[in-house]
Order: sequence, then C-alpha cells, then structure tokens
Amino acid sequence: MAHVISMWDIPSVAVKDSNDRFPVRRIFCVGRNYVEHQKEMGGDGREMPFFFLKSAHSLVAGGGNVHYPPKTANYHYETEMVVAISKGGRRIDAKKANEHIFGYGVGLDMTRRDLQQLGKDHGRPWDFGKDFDEAAPCSALVPAAKIGHPAKGVIWLRLNGKERQKADLSDMIWSVPEQIAYLSEYYTLEPGDLIYSGTPAGVGPVKPGDDMHAGVDGVGELKVKIVPAL
Ligand code: MN
Repeated sequence: MAHVISMWDIPSVAVKDSNDRFPVRRIFCVGRNYVEHQKEMGGDGREMPFFFLKSAHSLVAGGGNVHYPPKTANYHYETEMVVAISKGGRRIDAKKANEHIFGYGVGLDMTRRDLQQLGKDHGRPWDFGKDFDEAAPCSALVPAAKIGHPAKGVIWLRLNGKERQKADLSDMIWSVPEQIAYLSEYYTLEPGDLIYSGTPAGVGPVKPGDDMHAGVDGVGELKVKIVPAL
C-alpha cells in the first residue's frame, strides 16, 4: 500500500535539555480561566469551563518568527501554561489527573480577536479566530519528573520589553487537574494531547516587528517575533 500524496511529519515539540521530542496529537484550549481575564472578556466569574481546539499543525515549536495572519486587524497574544498529556483516559478523577501529565511548557494562544468576536456575535464557531496557521507557538516541554506539577508561579508576558501580562498560576479558576477531569468527560484523552490552560488578564494586539517574551516561572520561556504576512 502506498499513500497517494506524500506523508507529512507528525507535529512535535522539543523536550528541554534532551534530544527527544514530544509528538502532538491535539491541542485543547480552555477559555476564560483566570478571574481578571474573564472580567476583561465580559464574564461574570462563575461559568463552567469551556474548551476549543487548535490543529496540531498550528504549532510553532520553540517559537521564533510568526507571520502576521491574514484577514485580521486585531491579532492578540494570550500567554498560557501548556500541559502535555502522556497517558490517555476517560472520566479521569481530578485527584489522579497528574498521573496523566508528561510535563509543562509555555504557549501563546494567538487569536484573531476580530474574527473570534464575529463568531460570538453570530453564534458561529471560533475556529477562524483561534485555529489558523502558526496560531500555537509552544516552548520546549519540561518533564513533570523534573519540576513536579506547578500550581503556583508567575505567568507573564513582555511585549517589546514592557510588561503586559502578569499573574500567578494559582489565579486559575479551574486548576489543571480539574481541567483534565472535565475534558475527559467529553473526550477520550490520548497521549500527545496538549492543553493550553488559559491566559491571565492583559491580552492585547501585536503587529509586525513586535517581540514577545513569555514565561512561566519554574517552567520555561518562549520568544516570538511577529513578521510581515506571507
Ligand atoms: Mn486562550
């Protein structure tokens, strides 16, 4: 048997301080998971978690140059801790969720905010706002075997050297284990799945030439430069 078109590489991200890579299957993202960000997006502070997906092919492993995407005039960063799933499961107990985690990274949930808003206004899907080329920069992953399971630590973003986002992982509305428990009621989680665990307040637009430097203390850092559209 042959494939009638050439096969592509499985998307993957590096594992820090190693030559190994983590193959990526799906990217789940939680919405409005920090109180102050939920307020800035118009939430009331009490809603259940909700998720959307990005294609694994939108990964920008290790950061670097990211092209300004088409059909937007309001292209935003959202700094997030990324959770990498190594052991799948259904209806995972939050108390045992950490056993399903390989490690952690720093990601940017890049967003065409105007297209996302258009989707919200018309009750349409968010895909065009959230899932597009190069929409998911992600740092190298650091194994939980090395750092444990961070529930505290500063998450931050500097844009052209100026602080734009700064909060603590403990400000999450739904903790990482709670997110895994909730998500695994709806999906069979699989090894290779990533979860972008939400962004704090301070999201905003970027344009070509801008430099973003994001990090989660104790986990890692990610640098992205926005370059002109293709
Ligand atoms: Mn997000």
